Amino acid sequence: MIGLLGLKRGASSARLRVLCLGAHSDDIEIGCGGTLLQLAKTRPRPEFRWVVLSAIGARATEAKRGARKFLGPAAQDAIRLHEFRDGYFPAQFAAIKDAFEQIAREFQPDIVFTHRREDRHQDHRVVSDLTWNTFRKQLILEYEIPKWDGDLGVPNFFVPVNRRSAQSKAKALLDVFGSQRSKDWFSEETFLGLMRLRGMECRATDGYAEAFHARKIVVPL
Ligand SMILES: [Zn+2]
Repeated sequence: MIGLLGLKRGASSARLRVLCLGAHSDDIEIGCGGTLLQLAKTRPRPEFRWVVLSAIGARATEAKRGARKFLGPAAQDAIRLHEFRDGYFPAQFAAIKDAFEQIAREFQPDIVFTHRREDRHQDHRVVSDLTWNTFRKQLILEYEIPKWDGDLGVPNFFVPVNRRSAQSKAKALLDVFGSQRSKDWFSEETFLGLMRLRGMECRATDGYAEAFHARKIVVPL
């Protein structure tokens, strides 16, 4: 997949650079944790940047634990946490835009994982909009977050996830994000169920997949 998209240029070339953006400290893991678990094991190992825009107090600790759990040794030097107010991103747009400019100055990714444009959470939409505003030459993959709003769409880009990664993702989410357990949807069943559905849609070998919205794909021939 990555080869087809022109993102892997042989073992001797530069490492793949992967930027993971999340509004809150469980979004990246929920949206693309299985993909990242597998991507972090590829050789040469990609270089990651893991950015959470609202990670304060206990949620900052969770964000760091989450990144380490999913990226393993690749989490070293990858984590960048900000302290924007949860739920109020539209009112902090200018400051968050400045943060994005800073991210782009420090790290030039090949792939960006971010929130989906039509996500009903206002913080998620700000992150999605600023991703497209900031990164013009990169492959942007928008991940999905199940929620009460029922805003899942029809994705067009699938990454099959093996059974072990799917189960590790679901377990790690419950293990790391204790602060989210009060949400009745935050369960292993939800995460495995969505991956199973997406795996069925793309006929994944192990039955699991994560799905993304890819609005623009450039295929170099
Ligand atoms: Zn979120």
